Amino acid sequence: MADDNPLLLADFDFPPFDRVEPRHVRPGMRDLLTRLEGELEELEKGVEPTWGKLVEPLERITDRLDVIWGMVQHLKAVKDSDDLRAAVEEVQPDKVKFQLRLGQSKPIYEAFKAIRNSSDWESLSDARKRIVQEQIKEAVLSGVALENEQREKFNQIEQELEKLTQKFSENVLDATKKFEKLITDKKEIEGLPATALGLAAQTAVSKGHENATAENGPWVITLDAPSFMPVMQHARNRALREEVYRAYLVRASSGELDNTNIINQILKLRLEKAKLLGYKNYAEVSMTQKMATVERVEELLEKLRAASWDHAVKDMEDLKTFAKDSGSPEANDLAHWDLNFWSERLRETKYDINEEELRPYFALPKVMDGLFALANKLFGVSVEPADGLAPVWHSDVKFYCVKDSSNSPVAYFYFDPYSRPSEKRGGAWMNVVFSRSRVLARNGLPVRLPVAHMVCNQTPPVGDKPSLMTFREVETVFHEFGHALQHMLTKQDEGFVAGIRGVEWDAVELPSQFMENWCYHKDTLLSIAKHYETGETLPEEIYNKLVAAKNFRAGTFSLRQIRFASVDMELHTTNDPSGSESIYDVDRRVAERTQVLAPLPEDRFLCSFSHIFAGGYAAGYYSYKWAEVLSADAFSAFEDAGLDNDKAIEETGRRFRDTVLALGGGKSPLEVFVAFRGREPSPEALLRHNGLLPVAA
Ligand SMILES: [Zn+2]
Repeated sequence: MADDNPLLLADFDFPPFDRVEPRHVRPGMRDLLTRLEGELEELEKGVEPTWGKLVEPLERITDRLDVIWGMVQHLKAVKDSDDLRAAVEEVQPDKVKFQLRLGQSKPIYEAFKAIRNSSDWESLSDARKRIVQEQIKEAVLSGVALENEQREKFNQIEQELEKLTQKFSENVLDATKKFEKLITDKKEIEGLPATALGLAAQTAVSKGHENATAENGPWVITLDAPSFMPVMQHARNRALREEVYRAYLVRASSGELDNTNIINQILKLRLEKAKLLGYKNYAEVSMTQKMATVERVEELLEKLRAASWDHAVKDMEDLKTFAKDSGSPEANDLAHWDLNFWSERLRETKYDINEEELRPYFALPKVMDGLFALANKLFGVSVEPADGLAPVWHSDVKFYCVKDSSNSPVAYFYFDPYSRPSEKRGGAWMNVVFSRSRVLARNGLPVRLPVAHMVCNQTPPVGDKPSLMTFREVETVFHEFGHALQHMLTKQDEGFVAGIRGVEWDAVELPSQFMENWCYHKDTLLSIAKHYETGETLPEEIYNKLVAAKNFRAGTFSLRQIRFASVDMELHTTNDPSGSESIYDVDRRVAERTQVLAPLPEDRFLCSFSHIFAGGYAAGYYSYKWAEVLSADAFSAFEDAGLDNDKAIEETGRRFRDTVLALGGGKSPLEVFVAFRGREPSPEALLRHNGLLPVAA
């Protein structure tokens, strides 16, 4: 029976995506986990501190799980169904249990430590040293090194944190749902675009106003982003904006959904956990798995803050002037609920770009050709269609082979371009199918080649009309392809650190954001932006507007991110959760330096700051800015070389490929960056790209 189950195939060149059905998931995963459990026991019994008796069998176990579970997860994201969802939900706890057991294995931990302390240590390659260190670090962070009572205490903290973060997000969700504003008078909702009115009417229908229409209402406004944002940006009714803004600001901060105490508990437990593990504060724990250090983060945030401040002040003045010139009575007294509204009006006046009107210039096949041509120019690789070579999950999915300059395959990838709302998750992403690996090599080959998949949600082609993209979607494809390139062009043979694996997560957005820069490079963009019917190139004045619009209110947006990042750092470093300064005091203190218009005294945004209290961003929110610094600075190497100088671009591109794209997690990200750039990263390029350098007097 097991022979019929494609999840249990002993071996394959490419995953049998076409054959996996929901009914295979329960028996397949259970059987697989039992087998892996057995292999893990074997490994623990016979473990020796050598590559052959520790790392290789461990890589085989984790790889099998990654590949098979990765298939199931992928199908859930692109070919979802009730049956599949139910099956995944049922086997997930067993999978998590197995991973915990693996991550907390004492014999494995001890063996890695023995390698670390052996006389052979110095003779190991950088990549192997990094693997050993990372394995030890992960084990330590999971509490393996603690004894008896301390271990018990640690596990108790982990469980409590789990519960508290869960409760935190439930409260945010419930508080968001709780607010709804019924509007029956059309005048009150003036200014909202048709899509927002449609959504508001649809919400009204779902709340029992069965005859609601976009045209005549009634309409229901909620605090969900797709409902909330259009009100802030477009509602002419100032009182409505104020009411909705105030409701948004105090979500989950009172009554039975109050997150204040939960935040305090979380901060206390995180600090306690850090101390058990031997660190001063939780930020230090977070930094053990990042490229940055606490000092470096603080230094960077202050540098960016100082550079952004005057620009943000000017943004505010511009807004006031514009509101005044538009004859608005609120111009002299702009409040928080006016900022989005007036900046949208200013944006419309200044740039006059209609995203929809640009679509005919960005036909998907032409965009992809341009992207592949760019990869060829920069990195010397060619991308060739290889449809039919690997089974796919949907007939729209394309398969490609990436070849190096000697025409040998180095990697493969799937591309699933179009939206299928009934079964496919929204958004765009890249993920690993196989990573490059010597241990997992088959058929007498020296390595297994890396395979990736790239998933987007573009409008499908209609009749003869190709899929037409917005400029934002073009940027997204470049971004995801950047991730894919790092995964595919790796030269690392150690599977644990090949491609994107083992790269510190504040460095992992470097290649992706780097690729986005090329969307603003004139030659690159104009070579792909051809009208799909007339072949006409995108007019230069529109290109100029796109470039100018990129930095609209850059100082303000920069400060906003810096406020979030700084408050996150303060709460996880200097703040004493049992001390007299409340979390809101900390936020207010940070806001004084980072917000031109002081927040309202009743601002409780921390109560819905899910990134750091329910997501993985605790003492990590700075990563957004950190990665932007790296990618902008990397792109500036091409600017320094001369963007019009093909020879220089080629040389710089090859250097990027041989460092950032080739080394994967096998070297520390700082060393990789220095190897490419010849020096440590600097924020100058980011500030310049964002138009945030000091204004010349
Ligand atoms: Zn990304």
